[in-house]
Amino acid sequence: MSSVKDARDELLLLILSSPSGAGKTTLTQRLLQEQKGLAFSVSHTTRAARPNEVDGQDYHFVDQERFFEIVRDDDFAEWAEVHGNLYGTSVAELERAKRAGASVLLFDVDYQGARQIKAKLPQAVGVFILPPSMQELRRRLESRGTETPESLARRFAKARDEIGQYPFFDYLIVNDELQSALADLKGVLAAERCRRSRRAPTAEALLRAATKLDEKA
Ligand code: ADP
Ligand code: 5GP
Repeated sequence: MSSVKDARDELLLLILSSPSGAGKTTLTQRLLQEQKGLAFSVSHTTRAARPNEVDGQDYHFVDQERFFEIVRDDDFAEWAEVHGNLYGTSVAELERAKRAGASVLLFDVDYQGARQIKAKLPQAVGVFILPPSMQELRRRLESRGTETPESLARRFAKARDEIGQYPFFDYLIVNDELQSALADLKGVLAAERCRRSRRAPTAEALLRAATKLDEKA
């Protein structure tokens, strides 16, 4: 029994990326609300907090000086400039998720961050969220009401380049109807949990237990 219990799954790293406004924050939050054992990697950013955002929960909001201090100390697992602001995933966040005993760690990062995480941790799974159309992407960015006209234009102009990164990702989810996209995301998670490489330790532990029983018989 104990050997089967010891064969615990390793932490599943799930990266969510998308062009700005496609809905990855919404999907991430819904997934965190609905499933247990998930941790969210809280990034550092130099962008100003939006009215509904909580420091330490949505992001660690820092100034440029502090951001580059962390860069100099080599304490970011990845970092990048996105839409004119700096964003990074600290090594401390990865450690925190491990200590908290989460089975899944979610990253909401852009494609540059996704590439850096994959380079360091190739077992990470990349999911790219697509909008149903460019018109709807623009409508969502506008309706969120968080961007200045300049920032909105910059984010929308970047969308084509970002969507062009899709071949790098393992899964593509079209976020048309939210419930359906959420079901797809849960499906990806379920499939990844059942991947042979992840379940192999359980199978191997069962084999050892069965061998012991054979020896006793
Ligand atoms: P991202 O994190 O990718 O920039 P958000 O999650 O902030 O995008 O979503 C952008 C806006 O679109 C938000 O106002 C959100 O409520 C809305 N939204 C997200 N998904 C959908 C959907 N499936 N249908 C309609 N609106 C959506
Ligand atoms: P927003 O300002 O809308 O919250 O995020 C803008 C972009 O920055 C999104 O594509 C988001 O995924 C990305 N982002 C957020 N945190 C990180 C991070 O830690 N690293 C990287 N590389 N990108 C991030």
